[in-house]
Amino acid sequence: MTENDFGLTLSSFESLGDFADAGLQSTTLALERAMRSFDERRVPIAGAAVHKAADGTLTTIAVGCNDRIPQAGTESIGYPTDHGETSTIRLIEDIGAWDWGRVVFTTSLSPCIMCNRALTELHGLGLNKIVVAESQTFPGTKAQLKALSGMTLLELTNDKAVHMMTTFARTYPWDWNADIGMVPPAGDNRLLENSALRLRLTSTHVPNARSAANAVVVDRAGTVLATASDDRETCNGNPCRSAPIAAMGHAGSSVNLRECAIGFMTGRDTPVGVAEFGLASVGCCELFRPAAVFSDAPFDNELSRLLETGGTRVFDGGNRS
Ligand SMILES: [Zn+2]
Repeated sequence: MTENDFGLTLSSFESLGDFADAGLQSTTLALERAMRSFDERRVPIAGAAVHKAADGTLTTIAVGCNDRIPQAGTESIGYPTDHGETSTIRLIEDIGAWDWGRVVFTTSLSPCIMCNRALTELHGLGLNKIVVAESQTFPGTKAQLKALSGMTLLELTNDKAVHMMTTFARTYPWDWNADIGMVPPAGDNRLLENSALRLRLTSTHVPNARSAANAVVVDRAGTVLATASDDRETCNGNPCRSAPIAAMGHAGSSVNLRECAIGFMTGRDTPVGVAEFGLASVGCCELFRPAAVFSDAPFDNELSRLLETGGTRVFDGGNRS
């Protein structure tokens, strides 16, 4: 059996059974996209999702790439919440159009906690075949994904993917650390943790937040850096279009989210849970660890616990004084 440019053959994907060809296609596409980013001196991490119909037809659903370092020559300021996996998912216009039990999702590198949460949302829709092209340079959170019921997680050690990541991490250590939330906040975050500031922000900075859930990213001065609304309804529930992950993406790559607070506005005083906030958005907070999350609504225990475990302070409507 002949190897392709990445040393892959159909037999590399034997453990996917009837979906080996979909795995070969998605992994080749993800590695090709990562290689293009590598050549463009961007973060060389990408993802791809391929559907296999009952008649054997393979359809590429989406191919996405890490967007921390924007493409040269564009106006983009970077979209830091687009990792290989989340960018791939965010591109999908109709998440309900696919039978996710017939999809192979490949990521070129082990998923971080944010991408893990986004993939877990797809598992809820039936996704049960994931390929990790290499997990040598970043361990990620594979154990949690493997533990999902019925999940087949195929781990490869692709030499080209390892080479791209080791070269990138050595050449651009700041960007790599920033990409996984490892750049510590500079200076003092206390202002952001002040509930008075939170209330002021709640009342003055989010004027359109009274009818639909909205997210906002603010810096220490109280300046609104980015906003986003929940766009999941327009795409049948695309997890990467929930409001907080979108707002944090719109903030751009020059912002250290650990020096920011995230507001989640509902216009209500009834409890918010993980599903409404968005599990991928929870993962985004777990990874990038904003100093605080504030809301006009109370958060339920599960949502507060997940956010606080990562070190984020929660100022929700339940503890407003
Ligand atoms: Zn990730």
